Amino acid sequence: MEPTAPVFDIQRFSLHDGPGVRSLVFIKGCTLHCPWCQNPESQASRPVIAFYADRCQESFECAAVCPNRAIRVEGYRVDHERCDLCARCVAACAYGALRLIGEHLTPTQLVDKLLVDLPYYENSGGGVTFTGGEPTLYPDFMRRVLELCKAVGIHTNLETAGTFSWAKWEPILAMLDLIYFDLKILDAELHEAHLGHGLSRIMENAANLTRRGFPVEFRMALVPGYTDTPANIVAASDFLHRLGYGAVHLLAYHNMGEAKIDIIQGTQPKLGLTRYSDESWRELVRMFRERGIEVLNESP
Ligand code: SF4
Ligand code: SF4
Repeated sequence: MEPTAPVFDIQRFSLHDGPGVRSLVFIKGCTLHCPWCQNPESQASRPVIAFYADRCQESFECAAVCPNRAIRVEGYRVDHERCDLCARCVAACAYGALRLIGEHLTPTQLVDKLLVDLPYYENSGGGVTFTGGEPTLYPDFMRRVLELCKAVGIHTNLETAGTFSWAKWEPILAMLDLIYFDLKILDAELHEAHLGHGLSRIMENAANLTRRGFPVEFRMALVPGYTDTPANIVAASDFLHRLGYGAVHLLAYHNMGEAKIDIIQGTQPKLGLTRYSDESWRELVRMFRERGIEVLNESP
């Protein structure tokens, strides 16, 4: 039987997540719980029925088709405890107020969807970028997906927070053309406290990848008060130097993920942080450069 993974989105024609024109494949399930997560719907591996309250006309076709009495009349429409994700309500709702987030696909089903854009990948030097969530949660699935991509010459990139088992993943990583490795908090205690996961395996995996010549690009999300502190920027810069890397791609915090917390009835906190001004962003870039780290992107 083919393995599956819960894919929750495929965005086509991206120009920012690797070379050329790309498809971004988002896979549900994550090993970390970043409080600033831009994709809160990606954190749990179980698919979920999302409810968009602003679109709901209270017509209750959803309740009429639900076999599990999982539709509520008041408040958030879906009782997740009762819901078995049959998605009949999604089909019945004419207003688009319900959506299934996450669909288990086999590697063959996923790659068939990606192949429709093969001419774009070929003409632009592009390909596919796997992100999430944390795609390394699904080694059997990803191995097969990468084999299928390789068989037709699709360039592949995988974004990871680096929490994977090296023994399990080394042969799979060898099939990738590019690896985006996300750095977050470089202090072990703060990492554990904010992200719910130790730092040592992440650092070991980063060292293993660079030592063995894997094609890695380090990326770092800057989040006010969490990852953009002077101490964290110094620690990240020193870590990159120790790995023999002199460059990083910076990603600026934005709060668009917070709107998605309510549609899944999520428990992630709303941080209410403000976005960086041009001036504060330039200052952060300057701090990396001062430590001898090239910033690959001038603007966020
Ligand atoms: S069918 Fe759609 S619009 Fe009607 S009550 Fe259900 S969620 Fe709301
Ligand atoms: S997905 Fe199925 S079980 Fe869940 S609320 Fe909709 S109709 Fe009911």
